[in-house]
Amino acid sequence: MIATKARFRHARRLERLVGYRLPDQAFHGATLEAVSSRLDYEHLDHTLHDQMIRFIHSFLKCRCKDTPMCGCPERKFGREILELRENGLDHRQIAGYLLEEYGIDLYPADLLSYLEDSVHVLEAIRDISCLKNRANLAASAAEHISLLER
Ligand SMILES: [Zn+2]
Repeated sequence: MIATKARFRHARRLERLVGYRLPDQAFHGATLEAVSSRLDYEHLDHTLHDQMIRFIHSFLKCRCKDTPMCGCPERKFGREILELRENGLDHRQIAGYLLEEYGIDLYPADLLSYLEDSVHVLEAIRDISCLKNRANLAASAAEHISLLER
């Protein structure tokens, strides 16, 4: 899961705001709990404040009973990376975007292997869909493959 490799660049500053030790991983349960509690983000500098608001807005808005431990944040993050790639960003540009937008550090090499793994999963979905005569699903998988691979 690519989300487990995402780290907050300013984890120590968040830690000071929260008042207890936090893991660096942005999607670690303890981090998600802390970020989604009522933190006083006004005490952060402007850039970090905006990054945290965007992080909450993009990944922590769901109606699940056990949010933020429901798996939605990790899934939304994985989906956002695929969408960025489908919109034409390469793995290095995606890393730059995540850092600027959310203050998240991710190695471009990890992003690249996530994108490659995703293509392999889609290829399996396409092939099985063909065997099962699910033409629409096969076509959709094929379309995503071509967008990710271009
Ligand atoms: Zn959820």
